[in-house]
Amino acid sequence: MAGWMDEYGDFSPHPSLDVEVGALERAADELRTRLRENYPFFHPRYIGQMLKPPHPVAVIGYVTAMLVNPNNHALDGGPATARMEKEVVSQLAAMFGFDQHLGHLTSSGTIANLEALFVARETHPGKVVAYSADAHYTHARMCRLLGVDGRAVRTVADGTMDLQALKELLRTGAVGTVVATTGTTGLGAVDPVHQIVALCRRYGARVHVDAAYGGFFRLIADDGADGVAAAPFTAIADCDSVVIDPHKHGLQPYGCGAVLFKDPGVARHYLHDSPYTYFTSDELHLGEISLECSRAGAAAAALWLTLRLLPLTPEGLGAVLRPGRRAALAWSRHIAASEQLSLYQHPQLDILTYYPTRDRLSQVDRASAHLLARGMQLPPAQSLFVATYSVDAAALAARGHRLVADVPHGRILRSVLMKPETEQHIPSLHQQVLDLLGDSQG
Ligand SMILES: *Cc1c(COP(=O)(O)O)cnc(C)c1O
Repeated sequence: MAGWMDEYGDFSPHPSLDVEVGALERAADELRTRLRENYPFFHPRYIGQMLKPPHPVAVIGYVTAMLVNPNNHALDGGPATARMEKEVVSQLAAMFGFDQHLGHLTSSGTIANLEALFVARETHPGKVVAYSADAHYTHARMCRLLGVDGRAVRTVADGTMDLQALKELLRTGAVGTVVATTGTTGLGAVDPVHQIVALCRRYGARVHVDAAYGGFFRLIADDGADGVAAAPFTAIADCDSVVIDPHKHGLQPYGCGAVLFKDPGVARHYLHDSPYTYFTSDELHLGEISLECSRAGAAAAALWLTLRLLPLTPEGLGAVLRPGRRAALAWSRHIAASEQLSLYQHPQLDILTYYPTRDRLSQVDRASAHLLARGMQLPPAQSLFVATYSVDAAALAARGHRLVADVPHGRILRSVLMKPETEQHIPSLHQQVLDLLGDSQG
């Protein structure tokens, strides 16, 4: 990059930008110290939330482009990274089997879903948007923001949308768009997109897929062996829009979501004229088809470079997801065979929910909270980081768990196994959970 910059001739930075090296060293030192107040997202013993560091290739891509700080709002803001964005979006569209598409990167899954629901409102004004009760809370919130009537459809015992309830809602004729989630944030439940599409076509509703978390499982859905259901993922090809977060399972730093529409004609809902941003060409500017204005061109460069090395194939990025899926299956077998732990439900992706076997929900809650706290308090080299998930008596009963519901809801344990390294550590992680529980008899 320095070589390219030099071609433009040398110049002196303004003295107002100078900083004293000693002051920088001290401040950077303080930064590193403050950053120690963090959880070790990078480590196999961090099995808590949906967090992991980006791939080094993504870091190289991001930092390299960031040195010139292109803005993908407009082609003039970053011609190279805007083209990269179009290329990676095409690759995502091909992964989902979209034969044509309109799409762009966003700064997050939230904004990507907002855009999808905005288009849902514009194409079906006055109609209801339906999503499952276990869908990300952003859908209810964005419906409120957009002035759209959002309705939660109840789930069945595996955490997926109840098709009978959906059908009843569709029969009223009020529904314009149904949101299916392939990988709910809490349980990793995969809605039956194939059946939802069939129902929606019958009743004239659109289908939007929130694949923010689970979208990249499309790459291993054809495996068979690892048991990711293929039909919901292949059916995304028949849907009207889809959202995916490369900053979740795509090895990217935060600031990288994406929304894709099947019908390029939805651009008409975005089009606008700006007197100051677009001047170089008649080519479509990304800013003309997105609600956000400034966006990091570096995010597109990072994803572009990553996909050059780990392409969207079963052998490329698919090989990064497969071990986490196998880890969830392996650990669920350990749990099923153990007396101290119970499996809340069978994992559909790489998210595992389980709990310390107890008679009463209040005891489960206490033991889960104890394990969470104890694990984090251990010295770094022995620590364990899990997450908790709140369930109620009805959800437990629906899954056949016979617990005395002495409290209305309680915390169980939840682990997101999204790092490929985790697979090798499953036996020791399982043992460590048992040891921590044995510690307390809470
Ligand atoms: C994470 C997530 C979102 C929100 O995306 P952000 O990138 O966190 O804004 C929406 N839906 C699902 C299913 C998610 O997992």
